[in-house]
Amino acid sequence: MCQRSCVGMSNRRQWIATIAASGAMAAPTAWAAQATRQPALQPGEMSPQQALDFLRVGNERFVAGKTEAPNRDIDRLRKVAPRQTPFAAFLGCADSRVPIEIVFDQGFGDLFVTRIAGNVAATENIASLEFATQVLGAKVLYVLGHTSCGAVTAAAKGEPVPGQISALFQHIRPAVRAARGDVGAAIRENVKLQAQTLMEASTVIASLVGDKKVIVAGGIFDLQTGRVENVDVG
Ligand SMILES: [Zn+2]
Repeated sequence: MCQRSCVGMSNRRQWIATIAASGAMAAPTAWAAQATRQPALQPGEMSPQQALDFLRVGNERFVAGKTEAPNRDIDRLRKVAPRQTPFAAFLGCADSRVPIEIVFDQGFGDLFVTRIAGNVAATENIASLEFATQVLGAKVLYVLGHTSCGAVTAAAKGEPVPGQISALFQHIRPAVRAARGDVGAAIRENVKLQAQTLMEASTVIASLVGDKKVIVAGGIFDLQTGRVENVDVG
Protein backbone atom coordinates (compact mmCIF):
# COMPACT_ATOMS: atom_id res chain seq x y z
CA MET A 1 0.00 0.00 0.00
CA CYS A 2 1.05 3.55 -0.55
CA GLN A 3 2.41 5.00 2.64
CA ARG A 4 4.49 8.09 3.29
CA SER A 5 6.62 7.50 0.22
CA CYS A 6 3.85 8.43 -2.15
CA VAL A 7 3.03 11.74 -0.53
CA GLY A 8 4.35 14.41 -2.79
CA MET A 9 4.23 12.40 -5.97
CA SER A 10 3.21 14.84 -8.57
CA ASN A 11 3.01 13.20 -11.91
CA ARG A 12 0.89 10.44 -13.28
CA ARG A 13 3.76 8.15 -14.14
CA GLN A 14 4.78 8.06 -10.49
CA TRP A 15 1.37 7.18 -9.17
CA ILE A 16 0.83 4.61 -11.86
CA ALA A 17 4.04 3.00 -10.68
CA THR A 18 2.72 3.21 -7.14
CA ILE A 19 -0.43 1.37 -8.09
CA ALA A 20 1.54 -1.26 -9.95
CA ALA A 21 3.84 -1.69 -6.97
CA SER A 22 0.87 -2.21 -4.67
CA GLY A 23 0.52 -5.71 -6.04
CA ALA A 24 -3.21 -5.28 -6.21
CA MET A 25 -3.46 -6.15 -9.87
CA ALA A 26 -2.87 -9.35 -11.73
CA ALA A 27 -0.98 -7.65 -14.57
CA PRO A 28 0.59 -4.41 -13.32
CA THR A 29 2.82 -3.98 -16.35
CA ALA A 30 -0.10 -4.06 -18.76
CA TRP A 31 -2.06 -1.75 -16.51
CA ALA A 32 0.78 0.76 -16.28
CA ALA A 33 1.35 0.77 -20.02
CA GLN A 34 -2.31 1.21 -20.75
CA ALA A 35 -2.74 3.90 -18.15
CA THR A 36 0.23 5.80 -19.52
CA ARG A 37 -1.38 5.97 -22.91
CA GLN A 38 -4.81 6.66 -21.54
CA PRO A 39 -4.77 8.36 -18.14
CA ALA A 40 -8.28 7.32 -17.17
CA LEU A 41 -9.22 3.79 -18.12
CA GLN A 42 -12.73 3.40 -19.36
CA PRO A 43 -14.86 1.96 -16.56
CA GLY A 44 -15.60 -1.12 -18.63
CA GLU A 45 -11.86 -1.83 -18.76
CA MET A 46 -11.33 -1.55 -15.01
CA SER A 47 -11.53 -4.34 -12.53
CA PRO A 48 -13.25 -3.46 -9.24
CA GLN A 49 -9.85 -3.50 -7.52
CA GLN A 50 -8.38 -1.14 -10.10
CA ALA A 51 -11.31 1.22 -9.59
CA LEU A 52 -10.73 1.12 -5.84
CA ASP A 53 -7.02 1.82 -6.35
CA PHE A 54 -7.93 4.72 -8.63
CA LEU A 55 -9.89 6.28 -5.77
CA ARG A 56 -7.14 5.69 -3.23
CA VAL A 57 -4.51 7.32 -5.40
CA GLY A 58 -6.80 10.25 -6.09
CA ASN A 59 -7.15 10.85 -2.36
CA GLU A 60 -3.38 10.58 -1.98
CA ARG A 61 -3.01 13.37 -4.53
CA PHE A 62 -5.50 15.47 -2.62
CA VAL A 63 -3.75 14.93 0.72
CA ALA A 64 -0.39 15.76 -0.82
CA GLY A 65 -1.72 19.00 -2.32
CA LYS A 66 -0.96 17.61 -5.78
CA THR A 67 -4.44 17.46 -7.24
CA GLU A 68 -4.84 17.13 -10.98
CA ALA A 69 -8.52 18.13 -10.93
CA PRO A 70 -9.13 15.84 -13.90
CA ASN A 71 -12.20 15.84 -16.11
CA ARG A 72 -13.52 19.17 -14.87
CA ASP A 73 -13.61 21.22 -18.06
CA ILE A 74 -16.34 21.85 -20.61
CA ASP A 75 -14.83 19.36 -23.06
CA ARG A 76 -15.18 16.54 -20.54
CA LEU A 77 -18.74 17.55 -19.80
CA ARG A 78 -19.63 17.47 -23.49
CA LYS A 79 -17.95 14.10 -23.84
CA VAL A 80 -20.03 12.46 -21.11
CA ALA A 81 -23.24 14.35 -21.84
CA PRO A 82 -24.71 11.61 -24.09
CA ARG A 83 -23.90 8.78 -21.70
CA GLN A 84 -22.44 8.33 -18.23
CA THR A 85 -20.25 5.44 -17.15
CA PRO A 86 -19.04 6.30 -13.63
CA PHE A 87 -16.43 3.88 -12.28
CA ALA A 88 -17.52 4.22 -8.64
CA ALA A 89 -20.73 4.89 -6.73
CA PHE A 90 -20.91 6.52 -3.32
CA LEU A 91 -23.08 6.65 -0.27
CA GLY A 92 -21.68 9.71 1.47
CA CYS A 93 -22.74 12.22 4.10
CA ALA A 94 -24.41 15.44 2.97
CA ASP A 95 -21.96 17.43 5.12
CA SER A 96 -20.66 20.49 3.24
CA ARG A 97 -17.09 19.59 4.16
CA VAL A 98 -17.14 16.24 2.35
CA PRO A 99 -17.41 16.96 -1.40
CA ILE A 100 -16.62 13.56 -2.79
CA GLU A 101 -15.28 14.49 -6.23
CA ILE A 102 -12.79 16.84 -4.56
CA VAL A 103 -11.81 14.37 -1.84
CA PHE A 104 -10.91 11.76 -4.49
CA ASP A 105 -9.68 14.22 -7.16
CA GLN A 106 -12.19 13.24 -9.83
CA GLY A 107 -14.46 15.11 -12.23
CA PHE A 108 -17.51 14.98 -14.49
CA GLY A 109 -18.78 11.49 -15.18
CA ASP A 110 -16.36 9.70 -12.83
CA LEU A 111 -18.41 9.19 -9.69
CA PHE A 112 -22.10 8.50 -9.08
CA VAL A 113 -22.75 10.15 -5.74
CA THR A 114 -25.67 9.87 -3.35
CA ARG A 115 -25.34 12.01 -0.26
CA ILE A 116 -27.56 12.03 2.78
CA ALA A 117 -26.90 13.14 6.35
CA GLY A 118 -25.20 10.32 8.21
CA ASN A 119 -24.51 8.39 4.97
CA VAL A 120 -27.43 6.13 5.79
CA ALA A 121 -28.69 3.44 3.44
CA ALA A 122 -32.28 4.64 3.12
CA THR A 123 -34.47 2.95 0.55
CA GLU A 124 -34.17 5.66 -2.08
CA ASN A 125 -30.40 5.72 -1.74
CA ILE A 126 -30.24 1.98 -2.21
CA ALA A 127 -32.36 2.32 -5.34
CA SER A 128 -30.00 4.97 -6.71
CA LEU A 129 -26.98 2.81 -6.01
CA GLU A 130 -28.59 -0.20 -7.65
CA PHE A 131 -28.98 1.99 -10.73
CA ALA A 132 -25.35 3.10 -10.53
CA THR A 133 -24.00 -0.44 -10.35
CA GLN A 134 -26.43 -2.63 -12.25
CA VAL A 135 -27.34 -0.19 -15.02
CA LEU A 136 -24.38 2.18 -15.28
CA GLY A 137 -21.67 -0.33 -14.43
CA ALA A 138 -19.92 1.29 -11.46
CA LYS A 139 -17.30 -1.12 -10.09
CA VAL A 140 -17.01 0.14 -6.54
CA LEU A 141 -19.78 0.86 -4.07
CA TYR A 142 -18.20 3.04 -1.43
CA VAL A 143 -19.67 4.13 1.91
CA LEU A 144 -17.88 7.25 3.10
CA GLY A 145 -18.27 8.51 6.65
CA HIS A 146 -16.29 11.35 8.17
CA THR A 147 -14.95 12.66 11.44
CA SER A 148 -17.14 15.13 13.34
CA CYS A 149 -20.30 13.83 11.69
CA GLY A 150 -23.23 15.84 13.07
CA ALA A 151 -25.83 13.21 12.23
CA VAL A 152 -24.03 10.44 14.09
CA THR A 153 -23.31 12.80 16.99
CA ALA A 154 -26.98 13.77 17.24
CA ALA A 155 -28.06 10.14 17.08
CA ALA A 156 -25.63 9.32 19.89
CA LYS A 157 -26.94 12.15 22.07
CA GLY A 158 -30.54 11.17 21.48
CA GLU A 159 -31.84 14.63 22.36
CA PRO A 160 -35.01 16.10 20.83
CA VAL A 161 -34.50 17.62 17.36
CA PRO A 162 -36.83 19.72 15.21
CA GLY A 163 -38.91 18.59 12.27
CA GLN A 164 -38.10 15.27 10.64
CA ILE A 165 -34.41 15.18 11.47
CA SER A 166 -34.97 12.27 13.82
CA ALA A 167 -36.01 10.12 10.85
CA LEU A 168 -32.30 9.66 10.23
CA PHE A 169 -31.63 8.24 13.68
CA GLN A 170 -33.37 4.92 13.16
CA HIS A 171 -30.69 4.08 10.61
CA ILE A 172 -27.80 5.08 12.88
CA ARG A 173 -28.87 3.84 16.33
CA PRO A 174 -27.61 0.26 15.84
CA ALA A 175 -24.13 1.68 15.17
CA VAL A 176 -24.36 3.89 18.26
CA ARG A 177 -25.33 0.88 20.37
CA ALA A 178 -22.48 -1.19 18.92
CA ALA A 179 -20.08 1.62 19.80
CA ARG A 180 -21.59 1.97 23.30
CA GLY A 181 -22.18 5.66 22.72
CA ASP A 182 -18.64 6.62 21.71
CA VAL A 183 -19.12 8.98 18.76
CA GLY A 184 -15.81 8.23 17.03
CA ALA A 185 -16.43 4.52 17.23
CA ALA A 186 -20.05 5.02 16.16
CA ILE A 187 -18.92 6.79 12.97
CA ARG A 188 -16.83 3.74 12.11
CA GLU A 189 -19.58 1.29 13.06
CA ASN A 190 -22.01 3.31 10.98
CA VAL A 191 -19.90 2.88 7.85
CA LYS A 192 -19.84 -0.88 8.45
CA LEU A 193 -23.56 -0.98 9.21
CA GLN A 194 -24.60 0.94 6.10
CA ALA A 195 -22.35 -1.17 3.89
CA GLN A 196 -23.87 -4.32 5.36
CA THR A 197 -27.33 -2.91 4.80
CA LEU A 198 -26.54 -2.25 1.13
CA MET A 199 -25.45 -5.84 0.66
CA GLU A 200 -28.29 -7.39 2.64
CA ALA A 201 -31.22 -5.21 1.63
CA SER A 202 -30.49 -5.27 -2.08
CA THR A 203 -30.54 -8.52 -4.01
CA VAL A 204 -29.18 -6.58 -6.98
CA ILE A 205 -26.09 -5.44 -5.08
CA ALA A 206 -25.65 -8.81 -3.36
CA SER A 207 -25.67 -10.53 -6.74
CA LEU A 208 -23.10 -8.13 -8.23
CA VAL A 209 -20.84 -8.58 -5.21
CA GLY A 210 -21.27 -12.36 -5.35
CA ASP A 211 -20.29 -12.34 -9.02
CA LYS A 212 -17.25 -10.18 -8.17
CA LYS A 213 -18.44 -7.45 -10.51
CA VAL A 214 -18.62 -4.92 -7.68
CA ILE A 215 -16.58 -4.32 -4.53
CA VAL A 216 -18.26 -2.77 -1.51
CA ALA A 217 -15.77 -0.61 0.37
CA GLY A 218 -15.82 1.84 3.24
CA GLY A 219 -13.80 4.71 4.60
CA ILE A 220 -13.73 7.66 6.96
CA PHE A 221 -12.70 11.08 5.70
CA ASP A 222 -10.63 12.95 8.26
CA LEU A 223 -11.56 16.63 8.26
CA GLN A 224 -8.18 17.55 9.70
CA THR A 225 -5.88 15.68 7.33
CA GLY A 226 -8.04 15.18 4.25
CA ARG A 227 -7.09 11.51 4.23
CA VAL A 228 -9.62 8.74 3.76
CA GLU A 229 -8.92 5.92 6.16
CA ASN A 230 -10.03 2.51 5.00
CA VAL A 231 -12.75 0.76 6.99
CA ASP A 232 -13.06 -2.97 6.55
CA VAL A 233 -16.72 -3.55 5.81
CA GLY A 234 -16.40 -7.30 5.68
ZN1 LIG B 1 -21.89 13.72 8.47
